[in-house]
Amino acid sequence: MKFRGRPRTGYAPRHAGTKILLVEDSSTFTAAASQALGEALGADIQHCSSLAQVQDLIETKGRAFALAVVDLNGPDAPDGEVLAYLQKRGVATVVFTAAFNDETEEQMLARRVAGYVSKCGAEALDELCARVDQVLTMMDARVLILSRDGQMLDMLDDLLAANGCQVVVAEDGADALTLLDEGLEIDVAVVDIGAAGESAFWLLQQIHARCGEDSVRLFGLSTQAHKTVGPRFMRSGGDDFMSVPFITDEFLSRVGALVRLQKRMTALKDLASMDYLTSLPNRRHFFENGPRMIEHAVRRGQNSCIAIADIDHFKRLNDTYGHEVGDIVLRDVAVCLKACIGKPHLLARLGGEEFGILFSNCDIGEATGICEAVRKRIASAAIEADGETISLTISIGLAAIQGGETFDNYLNAADQFLYMAKHAGRDQVMSEYQLIRAIASSA
Ligand code: GH3
Ligand code: MG
Ligand code: MG
Repeated sequence: MKFRGRPRTGYAPRHAGTKILLVEDSSTFTAAASQALGEALGADIQHCSSLAQVQDLIETKGRAFALAVVDLNGPDAPDGEVLAYLQKRGVATVVFTAAFNDETEEQMLARRVAGYVSKCGAEALDELCARVDQVLTMMDARVLILSRDGQMLDMLDDLLAANGCQVVVAEDGADALTLLDEGLEIDVAVVDIGAAGESAFWLLQQIHARCGEDSVRLFGLSTQAHKTVGPRFMRSGGDDFMSVPFITDEFLSRVGALVRLQKRMTALKDLASMDYLTSLPNRRHFFENGPRMIEHAVRRGQNSCIAIADIDHFKRLNDTYGHEVGDIVLRDVAVCLKACIGKPHLLARLGGEEFGILFSNCDIGEATGICEAVRKRIASAAIEADGETISLTISIGLAAIQGGETFDNYLNAADQFLYMAKHAGRDQVMSEYQLIRAIASSA
């Protein structure tokens, strides 16, 4: 039995460490399928050769699996009893069997298995890997479905949820945009064009404006027979289109392909937007996402603030202990910052020993409190590096975002306050808020 596998791409396998149960009594198939699934997908395969072993593993040993690959007939289960047992326990199951004909195919469809693959034929193992990949991908997919037609929504919801997707439902374009504004993260939006309510052009533009073009894939559906609907959707920025009614398996395969594409894009984007030394988001990420976060906040009437934090006398630290110790210190400072600044705020390394913070849905008083907590935490931390115990301080400039200015202007304002903090002796947070409080208390 030949397995071609996938060319090495330099990426981690797509489902590395995912636990798959393989139930198979033939040792040849067991060896071949285990190797194929392990190599192509990076999955962690556990094998059983009988129903009794499966029951022991799950009930006695309490093992859990993301998915099972099952032969229909085993020595102590001649009539699909393993499949029935696993389905009863809610384990998604792909059937891999030689006993395959039109009748079994009908039965499999009726029993709503996650997939079925014939063991016969030269490409059986490649097909098994592709099917398991698709099922696991769908189980990891976040899909928004948008339609004004209740029946269509129910049909799509049932179909996608039955295939393990996390489904979010929107009844019109405005509903979908509100969900995205609230920070909903999705891989694919399935849009029923005819029933979406607004022009597809407008809606796709709005979705792209909110999420960015590389953050979501758009799948159009239409019950309208007119032949221009699909091409128009694709020209307006859609990624795929199908007419309804569709062939279920084809629809799922195409959604799966878009989910895979989106996951790959997200992984690449994450790599491109991460700082190598500290694993924080990098400058590019901060400058790409900061303006969008501010736009969201302004649209929703929320406060936001921006800060620049800079390690004091870092050059001296490098000169005294060496650059490598400097790097350890940078990593530790990043850990301290991360511990104090979580979602929904955005923390990034802007470069050198400088960090940017965008405080989302947060007024200047709250942001000052968080900055003070960061400052104190760093001032009191003892960083161990290369046998040395190092203490250090940080200065922070903080500016409130009023709306209507450019992102660079806000950042400049924070930089001005940072300059004042350095000038005033370092190890402090400086903002308009601090200045006003200082003036009030000295009056
Ligand atoms: P101030 O208190 O005014 O901020 O003084 P400073 O010494 O911290 O500031 P300055 O801008 O003079 O020096 C920053 C130093 O940071 C100089 C540079 O060598 C060092 N640096 C920049 N990037 C890295 C890095 O990735 N690793 C290490 N170890 N040092 C870095
Ligand atoms: Mg500095
Ligand atoms: Mg600096």
